[in-house]
Amino acid sequence: MAIQTIKKTSELLAQKKISSEELTRFYMQRLAKHNPTINACISVVDNIERAKSLDAMREKNSSGSLSPLHGIPIIHKDNLCTKDILTTCASKALSTFKPPYDATLVSNLNKAGMVIIGKANMDEFAMGGSNENSYFGPCLNPWNKGYVPGGSSGGSAAAVAARLAPAAIGSDTGGSIRQPASYCGITGMKPSYGLVSRYGMVAFASSLDQAGPMAQTAEDCAMLLDHMASYDPENDMTSLDANDYQFSQNLKEPIRSLKVGIPKEYFHGDHIPGMQTLMQHCIDEYVALGVEIVEVSLPDVSHCVSAYYTLAPCQASSNLSRYDGNIYGYRSQLNRQQDIDDFYIQNRSESLGREVKRRIMIGTYALSSGYYDDYYVKANKISNLIRHDFHEAFRHVDVILAPTAPSHAFKIGEMIDDPVKMYQQDIYTIPVNLAELPSISFPIGFYNNLPVGMQAIGPKLSDARLLNFAHKYQEITQWHKQIPTEFDQDV
Ligand code: GLN
Repeated sequence: MAIQTIKKTSELLAQKKISSEELTRFYMQRLAKHNPTINACISVVDNIERAKSLDAMREKNSSGSLSPLHGIPIIHKDNLCTKDILTTCASKALSTFKPPYDATLVSNLNKAGMVIIGKANMDEFAMGGSNENSYFGPCLNPWNKGYVPGGSSGGSAAAVAARLAPAAIGSDTGGSIRQPASYCGITGMKPSYGLVSRYGMVAFASSLDQAGPMAQTAEDCAMLLDHMASYDPENDMTSLDANDYQFSQNLKEPIRSLKVGIPKEYFHGDHIPGMQTLMQHCIDEYVALGVEIVEVSLPDVSHCVSAYYTLAPCQASSNLSRYDGNIYGYRSQLNRQQDIDDFYIQNRSESLGREVKRRIMIGTYALSSGYYDDYYVKANKISNLIRHDFHEAFRHVDVILAPTAPSHAFKIGEMIDDPVKMYQQDIYTIPVNLAELPSISFPIGFYNNLPVGMQAIGPKLSDARLLNFAHKYQEITQWHKQIPTEFDQDV
């Protein structure tokens, strides 16, 4: 069996050249061999029986009505609730938590016939950009194990890069799908806010959180999003009725007539040397594809990091108050508590990591009376300015092309003691979340033997356009096909 995209695998399954059982065994063998070296998954799930029953369904089905995802293995980030399957959020607080229900997107993909084979490592509660904040230890970058895979969906990105599954699902609150996708040389999409239901995704910063696909190609991301996206008004009142959920059907549209904006603030920013050349090559490919390039300005994006690192911790401090060890979550064995406050303090002190505690403290401080207007309200105002900047830019262009991150992956340990430096790495991804926009990151080359990505950003609900935009680039380039040598063998 050979490593393939979802698109190709789906054709092989439909032609009955392979079975879901064979496919699932193949990826489980890869997981058994490689997961111990890179720690991409917190748990591996033996789902061979389900694969067999999906094969039996295919045998009985003569009408060709099965979804293209039927029988294909998938890894979910460990902040997505999977019924009766451990869902830890990479935290000691949830280290034994088995949810009694599936997240909406998980059940959507189950209904489409996908086979869960693992739960991906991540930064605890999705707070971080390096996967070093995991209670279960860091995940390593498959391109160079001395480097981080990015975060917080580092496990999902590393698993796809090492081909431990055809695809994985991640979540993106301030860049957590796109930045690891860029660091690991894969394609990752943060959909428009509301396109994918948040029900069953452990909440971090609810106004920004959005789950999305991470795969080898934009085409595969489109196939996944076709099924992930759904209007879910009963469970997530911010979910959108988007009318059109046929992302993969749009991939045949030409992109010649598109106007592509290059934000000057992003291109003259503080990149590592070498990034500029890769970005210019990418722009040149798009020019060859016939698009028109226009310079645009996003004057307020420079404030995004301070706005985000106020808003997100505020929401996190409220969302995470539920992990008190009372109804569920980690409960201290010490039994030294004098009263209920002591009980909460003990449970939370023992079960939450440093970065999570830092965010809870920042958020609680910023929301306290007397400071609310100075911090939370002000950060929201900055968000509105950034939203407005994009709105203005999209009056002139259809897509904005920007670097995903200021550099390729950094070394493990390089930034862990300097949180502000780590936060600065999110400078290009955060504005998209603040403005609720869709954005897709795709690989555009290598620097220092590490992959580098660029992102295409569009107006709200232009998800289909972005997938097609990245797909067209991948039709004429090979970067997305590169596999780190160590993981290049079939099993
Ligand atoms: N790196 C950002 C943070 O630490 C983004 C996290 C995310 O998107 N989940 O908050």
